[in-house]
Amino acid sequence: MIATPTMPLEAATPAHICPFDQACSYLEAAGKELRLDQGVLEILSHPRKVVTVSIPVKLDNGEVRVLAGHRVQHSDILGPYKGGIRYHPAVTLREVSALAMLMTWKCALLGIPYGGAKGGIAIDPQQYSVGELERITRRYTSELIKDIGPSVDIPAPDMGTSAREMAWMMDTYSVNVGHAVPGVVTGKPLSVGGSLGREKATGRGTMIIVREALADQGRTLAGVRVVIQGFGNVGGAAAELLHQAGAKVIAVSTGTGGVYAADGLDIPALKAYAAENRHHLAGFPNATVITNAELLTLPCDVLIPAALENQITAENVHQIQAQIIAEAANGPVTLEANRVLEAQGVTVLPDILANAGGVVVSYLEWVQGLSYLFWDEERVNREMEHLMVQAYHQVIQQSKVRQVPLRLAAYTLGVGRVAQALSDRGLYP
Ligand code: GLU
Repeated sequence: MIATPTMPLEAATPAHICPFDQACSYLEAAGKELRLDQGVLEILSHPRKVVTVSIPVKLDNGEVRVLAGHRVQHSDILGPYKGGIRYHPAVTLREVSALAMLMTWKCALLGIPYGGAKGGIAIDPQQYSVGELERITRRYTSELIKDIGPSVDIPAPDMGTSAREMAWMMDTYSVNVGHAVPGVVTGKPLSVGGSLGREKATGRGTMIIVREALADQGRTLAGVRVVIQGFGNVGGAAAELLHQAGAKVIAVSTGTGGVYAADGLDIPALKAYAAENRHHLAGFPNATVITNAELLTLPCDVLIPAALENQITAENVHQIQAQIIAEAANGPVTLEANRVLEAQGVTVLPDILANAGGVVVSYLEWVQGLSYLFWDEERVNREMEHLMVQAYHQVIQQSKVRQVPLRLAAYTLGVGRVAQALSDRGLYP
């Protein structure tokens, strides 16, 4: 087992599966498969920098609240740190650390010249006004001013944040340094240098990977029964694109529950319904209301967990009926559940591949910005698709050569590339 990191982490409650330990277990498995040097593994199992800042914010009612904001910079061996900012009540330093490590392997796997990072604040953004969220985001950015930058660390949206927060971050950073710096964040609005295609990029990437996996089984998306947990940025876009491609999306859910229709849901109509009903899906015509737990165990061809981590666990894994699981969320399958699924021969398309479309288009956005030349959406989608399909085939190839499941294949590629760069760069001093 890799030594526990020396950074100050909150204790994981016994009932809770520690995401950082899980991430380290996958790293360890990849290290073993690659016969990596113990010292290299030791370096890669520790984030390079962990920053926690206090964010005092004046609420609309005059009360002052102090929030904790994290940014974990796992590795910059291959390039600037890269990764999203999460606003969610379940955010902890352990979770952010795990997600930062995942970003390192994800960028390396996709062949984009970035390291990995993640940030987060443990808040439910629904409980704050727009003004409060703006003050929180600006103060958080301001506190991180020396740690981020277009060639240092480039934040992006994640759960609970969007282009709006990125515009506030970009503006705060730019005002502080005295000139406009669009490249400090990605996932920005188009008006300040965002890229066409970025909003749906993660969902599109998932659709591409599912399509490739089906093609390997001699199938197409047409008529395939898909279940999606999550109907936000990622799940919503995946649902829409899969529906457009002819798949039958038979169930989707939000945090408050889901709906099911055996013949497939009318996704554009459901999107409009969700937007009108504050993201509640119950009451959508011609559909049965189901819980999130029921949704995961529905019989289907493809299951796409596109919400939080640890959704498919030792408790429910034996009820899973999908043949393919595409991890649009980060870490939705626990270590134990992953073992069971692999033993059962279920195809698990791992997160660092299946949800990489977002960071790939972040990279394309950053490249467009740095070259002052912006592309049409067709080109963005084409370039992204090329990188996704290439990585998919590399993972399949690696899995065949090493006789390992797809997750370990993806990890050995990502970890292996970072380890190689580390060894070429050498250890300073
Ligand atoms: N938050 C997304 C992820 O987990 C995107 C990160 C980015 O674009 O930097 O991959």
